[in-house]
Amino acid sequence: MAQQSHAAQVDAVIVGAGFSGLYMLHRLRGLGFTTRVFEAADGVGGTWYWNRYPGARCDSESHYYCYSFSDEIRKEWKWSCRYPAQPEILEYLNFVADRLDLKKDIEFGTRVTAGYFDEAAHGWRIETDRGETVHARFLITGVGNTSTPANPTLPGIEKFAGKIYHTGLWPHEKVDFTGQRVGLIGTGSSGIQSTPLIAAEADHLTVFQRTANYSVPARNHELTDDMRREQLEKFEELRRLTLASPIGMSFEPAQVSALEITPEERKAKLDALWDVGGFRFMFTSFNDIVLDRQANAVVADYITAKIRDKVRDPAVADVLCDFNHPVGTKRPPIDTDYYETFNRDNVDIVSIRADPIREVTADGLTLESGAHYRLDAIVCATGFDTVTGSLIKMNLHGKGGQALAEKWKYGPQAYLGLCTSGFPNLFMVTGPGSPAILTNFPVCIEQNVDWIAKLMERMRDIGFNEVEALPDAEAEWVKDIVEAADKTLFPTVDSWYMNSNLPDKPRVFTAYFSGMNTYAEICDDIARNNYKGFDLRTHARAEVA
Ligand code: NAP
Repeated sequence: MAQQSHAAQVDAVIVGAGFSGLYMLHRLRGLGFTTRVFEAADGVGGTWYWNRYPGARCDSESHYYCYSFSDEIRKEWKWSCRYPAQPEILEYLNFVADRLDLKKDIEFGTRVTAGYFDEAAHGWRIETDRGETVHARFLITGVGNTSTPANPTLPGIEKFAGKIYHTGLWPHEKVDFTGQRVGLIGTGSSGIQSTPLIAAEADHLTVFQRTANYSVPARNHELTDDMRREQLEKFEELRRLTLASPIGMSFEPAQVSALEITPEERKAKLDALWDVGGFRFMFTSFNDIVLDRQANAVVADYITAKIRDKVRDPAVADVLCDFNHPVGTKRPPIDTDYYETFNRDNVDIVSIRADPIREVTADGLTLESGAHYRLDAIVCATGFDTVTGSLIKMNLHGKGGQALAEKWKYGPQAYLGLCTSGFPNLFMVTGPGSPAILTNFPVCIEQNVDWIAKLMERMRDIGFNEVEALPDAEAEWVKDIVEAADKTLFPTVDSWYMNSNLPDKPRVFTAYFSGMNTYAEICDDIARNNYKGFDLRTHARAEVA
């Protein structure tokens, strides 16, 4: 594939070629900025490139989990179903990249290993694992929030004679579990999606559950031509709903408290939404699920009863319903036949909260009680070094050589989730403190990218060559996030939202909670007010050696 000339000096380096990087490249190209795009994978797709585990599927509905910026792309692409599987989303992103001829400007198989803000040159010096150094006025990261897989630290894991997989780093070739005894650790979205498929193939599957999760049926279905036509015809109306939504999805959010209607009305509402399935159950039922323990208990009790209905063995249902957190305070999973899978003869579940893993042996796992599980393969669905992991790993240094890892030692500090003070000309698409992780990602990505592109255009028009978040504005933004989170149930639980899914991370809420719609208004207002909270300035250009 012919690629653009590898200029050592460009306007912008973009890191990542997933939803964020692809659109950022398209926008900057349209504005005439020169770019280099580095992508560690051998293809586009980001999260959808790496997460190839059985059952990997989007939990957001296809007609809004996609780009909105191009009428042509929207009209030419046909989604097959309500929640497309990973191969289809990867195909979509390849389609977009080909349609916009983006691939020729992306350097695949190339990882950014370090970045230094050069105060004399007013730009970034970026190093890659191919030994190259590139200078860019702007550094823009589109590295995702769940892109650095986290493996569990289990004593003896190096002794295991079988294969160990991580859902977020799944092999490209088909993994065949036929005839095998498989152990799966982790019951977040990835574990819940992969369990039914692995169970259907393996000789035996044991799910090792540390935290019981509340899953709601997805109710996936194929899309007919009529359904697709209706989605296209109603695009403007659905888009308006999406943009007005706190979570970037094209349905009205819940308006009613669980506590202001009768038990009969609650049940009728939840029954109807259980049949609709997916995120609509959580997000269109009651407006106080993550705000009020009593309201939360209404929904938690409802889901618990549904699980007990589905699972035949009460002892197995006890483990699956052994909840220790309010529903919705960890990212809500949705599933296809997750609980039903535990009715199979070849599947069992073990609580490793009650009986933790003591060690891995050559032929399996041993728990503290001495119980031993003979395994041929272990699947780690144990999540990621979320939100900050991939940013910190890039080894970025701002003014005075300050490392991002050092600056964020006590938690990520970023203004609007887009910029961090002390690191001029660094933009983070869906960075910490943006609403991204609580929303439908493509909506936040498009808004972030458009906002960054407009700021860069304005700087060019006016002749500014540096932009930096002001420390006070950043501190205020972070304080507001913490205060908003403190009014919710999120801080009562360890989760990746709370940055506390791994032991050595600072425990702090990492998302703007007040909604994607409000966030977009604030960003627009800041832009209208001459980028309030940012220092925009001109320095004499120093030549790069
Ligand atoms: P996750 O939500 O962080 O879940 C990880 C699971 O592994 C949890 O059950 C966790 O238990 C367990 N775990 C972690 N470390 C462990 C250890 N050392 N020992 C035992 N258990 C351990 O990760 P994920 O399921 O990969 O999902 C991450 C995020 O990616 C999701 O929340 C979602 O935003 C995104 N995702 C989206 C989709 C989709 O749209 N379809 C699919 C998959 C993932 P604890 O709860 O006790 O920590």
